[in-house]
Amino acid sequence: MAIEVEHRQVIVIGAGPAGSACAQKLSESGVDVLVIERRDIIGNPAQCGECIPNWGEVVTTFSNLDEHQWLKTYFDFPDRLRLHRLDNMRVFLPSGKSYNFELDAFSGHRLQFDGFLGEKAIQAGAEIRCGEALKKIQHQSKSNRDVLVTDKGRYSCDYLIDASGSLAQVARLRKGQEGLYRPKDQVPTIYAQVQGKIPDSFDVFIGSVAPSGFAWIIPKGPNSANVGLGVRAGKLEGNLKQYLQKFCDDLNLEILSWGGGWIAMGGPVENMVSGNTLAVGDAAGLVMPSNGGGISQAIISGCFAAEAIIDNLDNGIDLLEYENRVKAAFSRALNNSLRSKKMSYAFMKGDLVTEVLLRILGPIGGIKRAMECDKPLWLL
Ligand SMILES: Cc1cc2nc3c(=O)[nH]c(=O)nc-3n(C[C@H](O)[C@H](O)[C@H](O)COP(=O)(O)OP(=O)(O)OC[C@H]3O[C@@H](n4cnc5c(N)ncnc54)[C@H](O)[C@@H]3O)c2cc1C
Repeated sequence: MAIEVEHRQVIVIGAGPAGSACAQKLSESGVDVLVIERRDIIGNPAQCGECIPNWGEVVTTFSNLDEHQWLKTYFDFPDRLRLHRLDNMRVFLPSGKSYNFELDAFSGHRLQFDGFLGEKAIQAGAEIRCGEALKKIQHQSKSNRDVLVTDKGRYSCDYLIDASGSLAQVARLRKGQEGLYRPKDQVPTIYAQVQGKIPDSFDVFIGSVAPSGFAWIIPKGPNSANVGLGVRAGKLEGNLKQYLQKFCDDLNLEILSWGGGWIAMGGPVENMVSGNTLAVGDAAGLVMPSNGGGISQAIISGCFAAEAIIDNLDNGIDLLEYENRVKAAFSRALNNSLRSKKMSYAFMKGDLVTEVLLRILGPIGGIKRAMECDKPLWLL
């Protein structure tokens, strides 16, 4: 007997920040939304450094967002999610010399953060089914529709949101390796929750500690931190875990648990809209290529995708308007960030060259601009 196909107005694959923000916004407008999440518990395991930007950081980094009241309210996260203020970032060169920059962010537990966002989506009326993974997409030519096959059921929908993270599962299942729809330059990362003597600032380390990448210490409290590193694929002799273990041993930090994941650092995908499918967050390649941050872009793009669907339903506006809005908000910052990353891939080879180069470029022209995704001076 054929398994029945459940039809929903919108199906969102993935309950990360992008999927939950999108589901909440749609549900608030009375749209029927089902979120399918493969994890049993939203946000678990965390795959993140857990630095979460405040609205102040978001509006200074990206464009055209100042007037967006819904997003401004969304970024007003409750105090219980805020473990430690991150007002200051220090970037360390291989010699140990460091430069200081201001930051407007906080550290949190992604498990709590993602769970909170998911709960808000549910309260707005969205349904989230956890422990269910999208496995296949079958095109039925007779009815000219796609059937989403999970390990628990079969679905069809009017609109589909790919919020499945950097591996972009919807695009993978539909288009295979076709580059236009899938995020590029997947960078392997590893991190550890540690305890020990922790600095008060968000510290970044450049050089052989993480070749063609960087290491971070993000304080989560007086004695605890998220410590990790990301390295360009294929650039490491040995494995990531050994590098991080040595980094922690050198700083006398005790590792309590390990985590890791992929960050797509190749910039936005060429096509974020395909028919009735919209890619959001990491699935759309919206991570900052020079620093790996992606939470704010995930939330904002999730909101924009929801608004595009509402505009399509109410006024027949083309879904491609979603891509235009994403570009208007993110293109400047993401393009500059991508240039910085390409520069570091091309020139920062070995500690000595890296040290000399960064000292010549200086804190304002090079490092600060790369971290803030502003146009580096050497590219003007
Ligand atoms: C190690 C590491 C450190 C990072 N540090 C930071 C940081 O400090 N600050 C920052 O801003 N960003 C950071 N990022 C990036 C940030 O984590 C992502 O940009 C952000 O989580 C993207 O949100 P998203 O909703 O697009 O995707 P995700 O958060 O990845 O959520 C995708 C969801 O889809 C689900 N899913 C996947 N496949 C399926 C399927 N087939 N069926 C159903 N569900 C599925 C997943 O289980 C997941 O819950 C880091 C990333 C990594 C890997």
